[in-house]
Amino acid sequence: MTEPLTPTGHRAFKFRAVLTRDQERKAGEWLKLTRDLYNAALQERRDAYRKKKETRSAYTQQKDLKTIRVDLPEYQKLPTRLLQEPLQRLDLAFQSFFRRVKSGQTPGYPRFRSAKRWDSLVWADPVGCRLESSKVVLSKFGGIKIIQWTDPSDGSRLLRVALKREADGWYVVLTYEIPKPKSLPSTGKTVGIDLGLKSLVAFSDGTLIPHPKWSRKANRKIVQQQRRVSRRIKGSNRRRKAVHAFAKTHQHVARKRKYFLDCLSRKLVNENDVIAVEKLNVRGISRGMGSNSQGRGFRRSVLDASWGQLIWMLSYKAESAGRKFVQVDPAYSSQTCPSCGTIKRKELSERVHSCDCGYVADRDVAAAQVILQRALEVLRCPIFPLNREGRAGMGSSVPLSRESCLGTGTYGS
Ligand SMILES: [Zn+2]
Repeated sequence: MTEPLTPTGHRAFKFRAVLTRDQERKAGEWLKLTRDLYNAALQERRDAYRKKKETRSAYTQQKDLKTIRVDLPEYQKLPTRLLQEPLQRLDLAFQSFFRRVKSGQTPGYPRFRSAKRWDSLVWADPVGCRLESSKVVLSKFGGIKIIQWTDPSDGSRLLRVALKREADGWYVVLTYEIPKPKSLPSTGKTVGIDLGLKSLVAFSDGTLIPHPKWSRKANRKIVQQQRRVSRRIKGSNRRRKAVHAFAKTHQHVARKRKYFLDCLSRKLVNENDVIAVEKLNVRGISRGMGSNSQGRGFRRSVLDASWGQLIWMLSYKAESAGRKFVQVDPAYSSQTCPSCGTIKRKELSERVHSCDCGYVADRDVAAAQVILQRALEVLRCPIFPLNREGRAGMGSSVPLSRESCLGTGTYGS
């Protein structure tokens, strides 16, 4: 039920919402109006740039809302804040577009949103919104029944409310400001983590965490459902049903995976002072793992998504608990002996690390030990400051952005 959005300070709680038929119609209408507004604002920015080489800001576009509300009375029913939010969303899309252009990437230009890609109404500044017993009151919309067990607010300030349409119905997401959590007491323990293929992760203490059974089963199902979608004719009823089934499986797996990784990262952060992982390649870690069949296609994207999510969770949980989270350069980590430091080439099929010096360990566990050693060196080394970019391949103990861990367009995130 809880869903942290940012490393510290905010926490989001998600509740299933029960909308009446009228409310569903209204929400659908409002989604359409806000989406039209987003698309129109995007069109305007495109035109302004093409014709006059002008850049329109969110601020100037927000000022136009007044005229829009006069010309199109249907917009008068919606609170101003709700109409400002799509313009800010568009502005963010442009900001990240320009940022990526500047850094030499070739991002796609912000795109028009179809109804399928527009699923939430956001009260970014929730004046007039409040939580009552099993009901959320949304300004100008009215009270919505939610399935709720606890009051998450605990006296903290409500920052944002969103009404969201998902594959299986409606949800309300309440974001609260939370006080910065206290640091956990020191345990004197450290851990290195290797992102494996055979098992999901391996720890430097010898623990191997296998791929959960549900993930393998679900992967098969998802591939099947994906094929079914592509076989059916576009625009047909049968295709729409297949798409819906596919989306539901996706959502189901994403939830299970989130729960699993939340528990795993929580345990690691609670038990260790230092947590070391290999530095994540944003483009996808498993892509560089050679052409063995295990790492190919869909399975790969799932692995990338799981690891990205795990590293992200570790980074913000470590930060808020006062733990050291270090990312190290993974070069040759699987070829190096943790005992004597010798580098010896290993085939992917060699599952056991066995060195001439007499050290024998599971291949991935040995790699996790090398990663931990590198992290401890980074922490001892005063020359390299622990900066965000991990200068010269060195580690960082700064929380990562969700974007940098999860990449873009990864499955089920
Ligand atoms: Zn050795």
